[in-house]
Amino acid sequence: MKEEKRYDLHCHSLYSDGKESPEELICLAKATGLQGLSITDHDTIDAYSPELFAFAKEQEMLLVPGVEFSTYYEVEGVHLLGYGFDYMHEGFRKFCAAHQERRRKRNSTILALLKRHGMIIEEEELASITPHTPGRPHIALLLQAKGYVETLQEAFHKWIGEGKPCFSPGEIVTLHQTIDIIHRAHGKAIVAHPILIKKKRILKKIVLTPIDGLEAYYARFSKEQNQRIIELAASKNLIATGGSDYHGANKPYSILGSAYTDSASLARLLS
Ligand code: AMP
Ligand code: ZN
Ligand code: FE
Ligand code: FE
Repeated sequence: MKEEKRYDLHCHSLYSDGKESPEELICLAKATGLQGLSITDHDTIDAYSPELFAFAKEQEMLLVPGVEFSTYYEVEGVHLLGYGFDYMHEGFRKFCAAHQERRRKRNSTILALLKRHGMIIEEEELASITPHTPGRPHIALLLQAKGYVETLQEAFHKWIGEGKPCFSPGEIVTLHQTIDIIHRAHGKAIVAHPILIKKKRILKKIVLTPIDGLEAYYARFSKEQNQRIIELAASKNLIATGGSDYHGANKPYSILGSAYTDSASLARLLS
């Protein structure tokens, strides 16, 4: 029997909060026995270049343009994956640039809130941790390094997680705005890890928006949880994708390839 082809369509590089370079991710994907991957950094497509696509081809890996956008639907933060878009699309690139500006302002807000609670992190310290735009995981690392918390989990649970005293979403970009820009750049919009959406009512409404699919295979969730999303996707004729959400960090659930998309769903995604 021919072995099933596997495409991990969700991972992060050092252009956001992952540990590895895009080239390292491609090599790791190959070593893992995957046929392809998508690097889905938070709010940026800076990982992608003609050289990276050439490198992937050399390695015989299918590289699908991807991104994971931070969006809001009503009061709920929703991560939206974009795939197969034209990564040179001007409006799309502008949208990403605006997100990076939003993130810089948001980081300043979070640092100010932390200062108010006696935790001092200077802008320069945060900037020195990555040459790219830092996110909350970088802030968590500094909180730990400076002894304000013992673990990264504690940083999120006590201070910078959603709804905690030092959290700020920054300027809000809506789910609808984000679906629209993905579609204008000829891509598909897939709701990332839908199980993480706290209010069931909200997911029910989201599947009625012009999204194209749901990330139904996600390594961190149980078979039953994934099955629920697979059935929901089928009932609405949405594409069911899968990915590991690999960050290269200490996240035992997210080994590259631990969740994946199959050939049939990939074909729909790229159609
Ligand atoms: P940001 O995009 O800056 O809001 O950061 C979001 C990222 O923070 C997620 O993709 C995760 O990598 C990480 N994150 C969010 N919540 C937690 C948590 N409770 N524990 C550890 N990491 C988290
Ligand atoms: Zn992340
Ligand atoms: Fe996410
Ligand atoms: Fe992610």
